[in-house]
Amino acid sequence: MTDKANTEEGNISIHTENIFPIIKKWLYSEKEIFLRELVSNAVDAIHKLQNINLIEGLKLADEYKIDIRIDKEQGTLTVADNGIGMNADEIRKYINQVAFSSAEDFIEKFKDLEDKNQIIGHFGLGFYSSFMVAEKVEIRTLSYRDAAVGAHWQCSGSASYQLSESDRKERGTEIILHLNEDEKEYLDADNVRTILKKFCNFLPVSICLEGEEVNDKNPLWTRSPSEISDDEYKEFYRKLYPMSAEPLFWIHLNIDFPFNLKGIIYFPRLTNEFDVTKSHIKLFCNQVFVSDNCPELIPEFLTPLQGTLDAPDLPLNVSRSYLQNDPQVRKIREVISGRVAAKVVELAKKDHETFVPIWEDIHTFVKYGMMREDKFYEKVKDQVIYRSSGEEKYTTLPDYLERVKEEHENKVYYANDEGVQATYLKLFKAQGMEALILDAMIDNHFIQFMESKNSDLKFERVDSDVTENLIEQDAGSKVVDGDDKTRDERISDVFKAGLDSIKGLTVRIETLKDDSVPGMILLNEQQRRFKEMTQMMGGQGEMPDLFADHTLLVNTASPAVDKVLKLQAAGDEETAGLLMEQIYDLAMLSHQAISKERMGAFLERSGKLLGMV
Ligand code: ADP
Repeated sequence: MTDKANTEEGNISIHTENIFPIIKKWLYSEKEIFLRELVSNAVDAIHKLQNINLIEGLKLADEYKIDIRIDKEQGTLTVADNGIGMNADEIRKYINQVAFSSAEDFIEKFKDLEDKNQIIGHFGLGFYSSFMVAEKVEIRTLSYRDAAVGAHWQCSGSASYQLSESDRKERGTEIILHLNEDEKEYLDADNVRTILKKFCNFLPVSICLEGEEVNDKNPLWTRSPSEISDDEYKEFYRKLYPMSAEPLFWIHLNIDFPFNLKGIIYFPRLTNEFDVTKSHIKLFCNQVFVSDNCPELIPEFLTPLQGTLDAPDLPLNVSRSYLQNDPQVRKIREVISGRVAAKVVELAKKDHETFVPIWEDIHTFVKYGMMREDKFYEKVKDQVIYRSSGEEKYTTLPDYLERVKEEHENKVYYANDEGVQATYLKLFKAQGMEALILDAMIDNHFIQFMESKNSDLKFERVDSDVTENLIEQDAGSKVVDGDDKTRDERISDVFKAGLDSIKGLTVRIETLKDDSVPGMILLNEQQRRFKEMTQMMGGQGEMPDLFADHTLLVNTASPAVDKVLKLQAAGDEETAGLLMEQIYDLAMLSHQAISKERMGAFLERSGKLLGMV
């Protein structure tokens, strides 16, 4: 293409004297963004032409595409489109009289910002961002209009430009970047492909690099949910997160009003505790990738979510702190939270069998969300299910409370460690009683939260007390011995005396319906919770000892206890003493709470007792 002789020279009218050094030096810390800007312009140019086609019924449509070309010899990278093109006047208007006021504002606003990555989308400078990597930029273009004359613009990174006619025959625009000496990495096709994959992977127009299409023009979120199969959703997920296991489920957002928001949100299978510090959602603006770190857009408790959000109306050239408080961003967070709640309800109602395994994966953040957001709580509260020690493996709280109404109204018995509390659970089971299993990290807080939400409700760990139901009601022994004492009183005396040396111990005598347990430790619920909380908060000084105050429940129905009484009566205080210590240590052992010193003694005593049988 040769340019005609009459070249117009002029100055780009920008208010800032010398914007180029600014562009080059510090506007974007990610220089590669220039490619996104140029490709986005090319897509716009094609869209404009498509619209004109639609409106005017023109038949200009051939295959729309964007070609990225590399010329290593010339040191140029070219972005070419067959879109609307420009004539000389349009170049003067759109390129020379840069709408730089916006860019200026932008620079003014953020010049003091230390971390440029704080600016979320880096949007705002468009075409001129090419000067970040090029010493000279040319535009060769031909407008779609009838009898249009081609135009050739060039500028070498100063305020002056040259504009001339060109004999370009094909409609559309070519932006030719003569790359700076130290930006030759953009002549490497693999590198350019990687950048295109990152920013332009889902653009709606064919993007070809060295003749090969690199993008997926119809990403799943742009299609109608009703025509997408589960397999397609899963495949799309694999494309986005190649290393991840299959997602649990997903939500397809397709919102036009009151704002535009599309996307697919996936619930990943969580590996134990999730990382709440990082956002995993990829943010797009009209299918152009913006960022994969936009925690502002999703409620904090949903941080582990993955997928894509396309939010074309968002002000993306603003700082994070601004975005955080933007009313629209707040709305987006609300919408997402609402849709997640609705999905949880839908899954819960659909089919219990499939919900249970999903619940195990999502309960942590459902609970967390309930604690963080009242609206979310209200929506999902009836769907929360609890693992149960009873016949039903899972139950809702209302169902549980209904079943136990007669025995312990509004009181929830729970275990937080099935191993440690096995004895208690066994007792419960034997009496047909039911406890909930709340053994996740979050459950401690969740229990407190549920109590604060429902003032009548009380949670008590199975080892905090024994319920009436576990106790033989009319077992109160009437037998009076020589000292006018009942059997229970006798046992009480013997154990109190025998275990006198143990600090903080209270002895309580009960006749349990189950005779297999000689003794068990009870820890007051409120005291224990308070100590656990203090422990968790760490702090200085000594940690509170959970067992500083504890109760040994001595089961008078147990043959071992009976044995103690008999040995005592027969005058064998020593063996009776050994047995009592053993009963106590066994009870502590089931709490994994036996001290090192007692452990040694326990083992020795066990050996001794074995020898006696
Ligand atoms: P923005 O895209 O934000 O308007 P730019 O500086 O990137 O800002 O572009 C300025 C204008 O130049 C565009 O609005 C458009 O009118 C015109 N333009 C840029 N690139 C092209 C292109 N490839 N084809 C047609 N017109 C273009």
